[in-house]
Amino acid sequence: MNDNGLVTSGEGLPLLWIIVPCYNEESVLPITAPLFLEELKRIISNGKASDLSRILFVNDGSKDKTWELITELSEKDMHYIGISQSRNRGHQNALLAGLMESVGNCDVTITIDCDGQDDITAMERMMDEYLSGAEIVYGVRSKRDKDTAFKKLTAEFFYKLVNVLGGEVVYNHADYRLMSSRVLEEFESFREVNLFLRGMIPLVGFRSSNVYYERTERLAGESHYPVRKMLHFALDGITSLSIKPIYMIVVFGCLVSLLGFVGVVWAIVMNILGETVAGWASMVCIICFLGGIQLLSIGIIGEYIGKIYMETKRRPRYIISERTWKPYKRKYKG
Ligand code: UDP
Ligand code: MG
Repeated sequence: MNDNGLVTSGEGLPLLWIIVPCYNEESVLPITAPLFLEELKRIISNGKASDLSRILFVNDGSKDKTWELITELSEKDMHYIGISQSRNRGHQNALLAGLMESVGNCDVTITIDCDGQDDITAMERMMDEYLSGAEIVYGVRSKRDKDTAFKKLTAEFFYKLVNVLGGEVVYNHADYRLMSSRVLEEFESFREVNLFLRGMIPLVGFRSSNVYYERTERLAGESHYPVRKMLHFALDGITSLSIKPIYMIVVFGCLVSLLGFVGVVWAIVMNILGETVAGWASMVCIICFLGGIQLLSIGIIGEYIGKIYMETKRRPRYIISERTWKPYKRKYKG
């Protein structure tokens, strides 16, 4: 036992930390926090996790009463603990903060959103998979019938595109997942700043399996992912995982140059034959076409250069300002 009263290994049973990112969730947290605890207690009483397991709330710089609620919860029940980021850094960074906080303090983690959309009861099935040897268990949506046609179509297109471009993303899996401490210890060495966890975790390797569940509506509050943010996240995912777009630009550039060369030869031949026509329209078309391709190419290359720029800065990916508990020792600096 360490001096915080936390035990770093759970009497033969795995010590589970459920990691829950929260951003402005004062309306939903009072509903879902007891549900998480109820489910954790069920897992404990079924002998699948140690009673020293915890639910770790990561406050992602909320502007409402979320952190106050988390501190109140941590005073009410020893299973609840919390950390707070000094400002809002986004869902992925909040998850990373929680995951890295857990390293060295538990055997296994499950990350889940705090809005009750992901079926909480799937956690026990994830633990079953872990107990039978899986180091990563992906929560996978069994169907998308609650989604709008637009969301369904764009999501499907996105997963397919990422896979075609060489990224490895589990179809219909978001960030509801179990990871063992072993996976997380290895994951610590992934030092990149642009985070797309669902694409990065498969790169760690180890034995994995899937658990299927149905995703429902938020129990309260509103989504923090409007279409604009979702598209940005998708673009971030692709450019974080794959450099194939650059390769495709090169191929495309070669084809266009070849066509250009044929065009030049054709123009010269026509000129020699004396059949030149003042082709203003075609000229403008060509100029626009080439201009467009060039701009697009520069844009995509710029996206990568932007990423390289960010990586070279090596800024901390999160800074924790408060804790409801004292870590045994600081192993990791974000
Ligand atoms: N979240 C976060 N930081 C943010 C935005 C969201 O920690 O900047 C959390 C949020 O509290 C929730 C999870 O990430 O637990 C998923 O967010 P949300 O439910 O709004 O996204 P959606 O399910 O609509 O995609
Ligand atoms: Mg949600």
